[in-house]
Amino acid sequence: MNKIVVVGGGLAGCETALQLASRGLQVELVEMRPGRMTPAHRTGSLAELVCSNSLKSDNAETASGLLKRELRMLGCRLLEIASESRVPAGHALAVDREIFSRKVGEAVAEESLIKLSHREQTDLDIPVVVIATGPLTSDLLSSAVIEHFGKDNLFFYDAISMSIAVDSMDHSKVFKASRYGKGDPDYWNVPLDRDKYLALLEYIRTASKKAGHDFEDGRCFEACLPVEVSVSRGDDVLRYGPLKPRGLVDPITGKEPYAVIQLRQESIEGTIAGLVGFQTKMTMSAQKGLMALIPGLENAEIVRFGAIHRNTFLDSPGLLDSRQMSIKRDGLFFSGQITGVEGYVESIAHGLLTAINVLKYIEGHPPVIFPSETLLGGLQAHLVSKSSNFQPMNANFGILPPVKGKRRERKAMKVERSLTSLISFLDKQSFDIP
Ligand SMILES: Cc1cc2nc3c(=O)[nH]c(=O)nc-3n(C[C@H](O)[C@H](O)[C@H](O)COP(=O)(O)OP(=O)(O)OC[C@H]3O[C@@H](n4cnc5c(N)ncnc54)[C@H](O)[C@@H]3O)c2cc1C
Repeated sequence: MNKIVVVGGGLAGCETALQLASRGLQVELVEMRPGRMTPAHRTGSLAELVCSNSLKSDNAETASGLLKRELRMLGCRLLEIASESRVPAGHALAVDREIFSRKVGEAVAEESLIKLSHREQTDLDIPVVVIATGPLTSDLLSSAVIEHFGKDNLFFYDAISMSIAVDSMDHSKVFKASRYGKGDPDYWNVPLDRDKYLALLEYIRTASKKAGHDFEDGRCFEACLPVEVSVSRGDDVLRYGPLKPRGLVDPITGKEPYAVIQLRQESIEGTIAGLVGFQTKMTMSAQKGLMALIPGLENAEIVRFGAIHRNTFLDSPGLLDSRQMSIKRDGLFFSGQITGVEGYVESIAHGLLTAINVLKYIEGHPPVIFPSETLLGGLQAHLVSKSSNFQPMNANFGILPPVKGKRRERKAMKVERSLTSLISFLDKQSFDIP
């Protein structure tokens, strides 16, 4: 049997390699550092955490905590190493990044079935290969990916608008409609009068913003401008752009409002909605303050904060199948943040899912699709759900199907349901758990 080449010794790639080797498969793990560095990595070590040393909450009642519980049930190697490298940080799983990275390196070195090669991979011409090169994939490999999928299918920045839980919106203050009543009323619309609109602009102008990294040169795409850039260009730019009211009649007044904030459905279940045009560099606390000014969203739960950063990722739905294999070529897998999951733990989780599905592919079995009630299943579903504006997704409760119950109890119900469904799902699976 051919060996499997895993390109990228980051979080996803190391998890994939360790999982495959523990199931008896030969792996070559290819990492370009230290010979060729990315703009953010500082070392030549495997699984370097490029920024924060926190893998977020380990509290089971949070989405990140639930994802960790699901991963522990599957024998996730990097999470185990993270726990061994833990530093005190309350409920968060924070690690000593050097110890974490060193221990991952040792785990890889101890695995006789893994050969580690330090070189830059520049093409995709390997029979069974996993591309796990992350948000800062090298230019030459990016070109090879573009050649494979076409230039419009690989993005280099994400411009994310904030998303909220639909059930946390005050529906008495918003109306559902499509512009000029064309098609289904797919959007939630927040009508704004002139005073509210101008107050919003003033807030955005003065709100605190995050500084970018040196390599994030502040370049903006005209089609996807940060809201603060639009606002800086004049009072009417938003009102004639993403907040234009044309064709949207407020059923309460019977008139078109001065401006309208639209929210678009983002999850198949209809549980998450994203504010159209609010991609932003505002800090998290500033984004919370912004919500408090929007009628109907005053108490909205933000499930994903807006952000703009360098991020190489594929427009995965339509390019990759449910196991993240190219629909154009068998044996070409993608894993981690390059597929559109976002965050350290999500990338580790995706590395684990990839290993299971590479194994199934080699055995000639159908892909393993996790239950939609689990965060693993929710992330898998996000990567194949057709969307006109595919954006990376982190683990959050909004990607899970809704539950009926009191609002404050719903998260606990989702946690319970996820773990129960994962236990019964794993009972029926044939893959070994290390
Ligand atoms: C500046 C920055 C800050 C971030 N901060 C956070 C944060 O605080 N918290 C968080 O949860 N997430 C953060 N992220 C996202 C985080 O990087 C990812 O979630 C995670 O590291 C992705 O894992 P990955 O395995 O997909 O990619 P990586 O961990 O980036 O691993 C990819 C690996 O591939 C290698 N590589 C690239 N091209 C090639 C090639 N052609 N040949 C061989 N090797 C190659 C790279 O050197 C790298 O080691 C940040 C990202 C960036 C860019």
